[in-house]
Amino acid sequence: MDISTKKGDMRKVTIRKIEAKSISRKYKKIDSWFISCYGMNLYRGCTHNCIYCDERSEGYYVDGEFGKVAVKVNAIDVLRKELDPNKKRFRRSFVMVGGGVGDSYQPIEEKYKLTRKSLQLMYEYNYPVHMLTKSTLIRRDIDILRKIDERSRAIVSFSFSSVNDEISAIFEPGVPPPTERLETIGFFKKEGFACGMFLLPVIPFITDTTELIEDTVKKGVEAGVDFIIFGGDDVKGGEAERLLF
Ligand code: SF4
Repeated sequence: MDISTKKGDMRKVTIRKIEAKSISRKYKKIDSWFISCYGMNLYRGCTHNCIYCDERSEGYYVDGEFGKVAVKVNAIDVLRKELDPNKKRFRRSFVMVGGGVGDSYQPIEEKYKLTRKSLQLMYEYNYPVHMLTKSTLIRRDIDILRKIDERSRAIVSFSFSSVNDEISAIFEPGVPPPTERLETIGFFKKEGFACGMFLLPVIPFITDTTELIEDTVKKGVEAGVDFIIFGGDDVKGGEAERLLF
C-alpha cells in the first residue's frame, strides 16, 4: 500500500497481517523511564522512518527490511485475556500503549485502529495508561483518553530529538515536525491531561548542544509539560550508522 506519513512524503509500505501469541509484557517493577508496569507492541515495525531508530540497526532488525510493518490482527483478543483483571497475573498499574518496535500512532493506525481498540479495552478494564508517540494522530482518541483519565488516569507524552523542525525533517522524516508535537501537547494540557516530554534520543553531536537542549526544555515547559525525561543514543552498527556518518 501507499502510505503518507506527512505532506509530500508518499512511500510504499508492505503490510503483513500476523497472529500474535502474546502482546503485553509485564515488568517485575514499574519501569522508571516509562512509568508503567506493562508494555506492548500492537504493530511490529514502523513507517515513521526515523534514522536513529533501533529497529533500523542490525541488532533490532524486525522484518528483514525497514518499511515493512506487521499488523497483529488478533491483538485485542490476546490483550483481553492477558490483562483480564480477574487473572492472577493482574496488577493495577500504568500500561504503556505503544512499544519499542513501532509507534502506536503510525499512519496504518488510521486503518487498523488497534491503538484505539486497546484504549477501549483499558477503559473497560480500568487500567491507567501512558501514551508515548511522535504522531499528532493521538488527537483522534481524545474522547476515549478523556474517559480513561477521569476513571483511572491517562498521561500523554511525546518524544523529541530536539524542537528544531529542520533537524527533525532530516532525522525523523515521517513524523509531524516538533512544532506540531508541541502544539498537540498544549492541546492535551488544556484538556487537563498530565503531559510529558521524552527528549529521547538526544542525537550525539547533532542535538546535544547546550543551545538546542535549552531551547527544547524551554519550549516543552511553555507547551505545559509536567516532566521531561532525557536519554542519549547509542548509535549501533548497520543502517543507522551508515545514515548518520
Ligand atoms: S517513531 Fe519510534 S519506532 Fe517509529 S521509526 Fe521513529 S524511533 Fe523508530
